[in-house]
Amino acid sequence: MRTITAKFGGTSLADASQIRKVADIIKANPERKYVVASAPGKRFSDDIKVTDLLYSCYSEFAKGSEYSDILAKIKARYADIISELGINFDISAEIETIEYELRKYPPADYLASRGEYLNSKIIAQLLGWAFVDAAEAIFFDENGIFEPAKTYQALGEKLKALPCAVIPGFYGSMPDGRIKTFSRGGSDITGSIVARSVGADLYENWTDVSGMLSADPRIVDKPKPIEYITYTELRELSYMGASVLHEDAVFPVRTAGIPVNIRNTNSPDDNGTLIAASIPHDVKRNPVTGIAGRKGFSSIRVEKSQMNGQTGFGARLLHIFARNGVPFEHCPTGIDTISVVVNSSAFDSKRDDILREIKNELSPDFITIEKNLAAIAVVGEGMISVKGMAAKVFTALAEAGVNIRMIDQGSDELNIIIGVDESDYEKSIKALYAAMIQ
Ligand code: ADP
Ligand code: ASP
Ligand code: MG
Repeated sequence: MRTITAKFGGTSLADASQIRKVADIIKANPERKYVVASAPGKRFSDDIKVTDLLYSCYSEFAKGSEYSDILAKIKARYADIISELGINFDISAEIETIEYELRKYPPADYLASRGEYLNSKIIAQLLGWAFVDAAEAIFFDENGIFEPAKTYQALGEKLKALPCAVIPGFYGSMPDGRIKTFSRGGSDITGSIVARSVGADLYENWTDVSGMLSADPRIVDKPKPIEYITYTELRELSYMGASVLHEDAVFPVRTAGIPVNIRNTNSPDDNGTLIAASIPHDVKRNPVTGIAGRKGFSSIRVEKSQMNGQTGFGARLLHIFARNGVPFEHCPTGIDTISVVVNSSAFDSKRDDILREIKNELSPDFITIEKNLAAIAVVGEGMISVKGMAAKVFTALAEAGVNIRMIDQGSDELNIIIGVDESDYEKSIKALYAAMIQ
């Protein structure tokens, strides 16, 4: 029998009625043997995710302020779920343990992880399945870096010995036993790790949309769904902001060639999006698969006449950023200019040091900083074989009255990245969608 790992996101598990839908989906296919669960997400648009409540509870605790109100809210969310599901689960005892542990002042990660821990225990009980704590088999090293080989071995052994199991997403443990979480949205990574560890035939990622859409649905009205997408395209789109799947979730499954299927818990008959190494030959696709973007970039443009003749100028410039711990995102160059595009959140606190070092070490003619940039990626493996794609992008933006502040085309011609003013971001995405996909 085939094996499927199914991960369910926060909205899919936000309350008892959503959890019932999830249980029906799991029971509908006995191949779904390993389930990864998130913490309860939002039940309505103004609601607060349990993970966010846990983080605020921790920050109140850390400030020495009163946190019991928030903890009570968290307890109430689970108490509602438990009573509506009609299961016998002692939430008071669990919350007491959490509070006891909290008083030992663990890192915030411990408290943040309890959302998935409790939800997964509840779901395991509802299904009558084993609960496998991620802390016992998902490992990080002492610097907090995920340890793939050790994890795949330990988790694979544990899970394959069980007919089926529920595993909490989002966290694992460090060598000293302390809990460590992935970054936000990290249950997608846990799902991918579980799929890889058990050698699953398929990784299903169940969420609240019927697959990956070709643009952000919060900006474009009803964007076309993507039926098939390669791992490479997905990585580009998710890194650039298509937030349906965590940007790091692709790595564990990609090397093992395990396809990923993004599906909708609220519309389980939809096919969703299939992510694999290549697309079936008989599938006709648009040259552009999707458009995604992010705000919050700065560009540091360095100009020096006859820069082109100075061997190592670019390397020395990038080294200054690296030395200050600021990774660069893009680096478009002209003959006498080079721009380094960085995340403003990483750059702002290091700005004065970096500028001083550039002036001292490279003696540039000018340095100009542009803030509040948004980067937008137009992504598609089919773009390489179609003439005039870049021209189409520029025309669409010109017609929408958008001033392009940066252009960067990846050497594999898989994407064209455009920098625009943050204030033009939504307008640009709409114009590009209309010209390249609609
Ligand atoms: P989950 O709680 O299931 O992990 P997320 O909120 O992390 O779900 O991701 C699903 C959300 O991602 C959707 O509700 C949608 O608003 C958003 N989203 C952003 N870009 C895209 C896109 N290109 N395709 C689909 N959804 C997207
Ligand atoms: N609950 C975590 C978060 O809100 C992880 C996840 O949902 O994937 O970020
Ligand atoms: Mg998510």
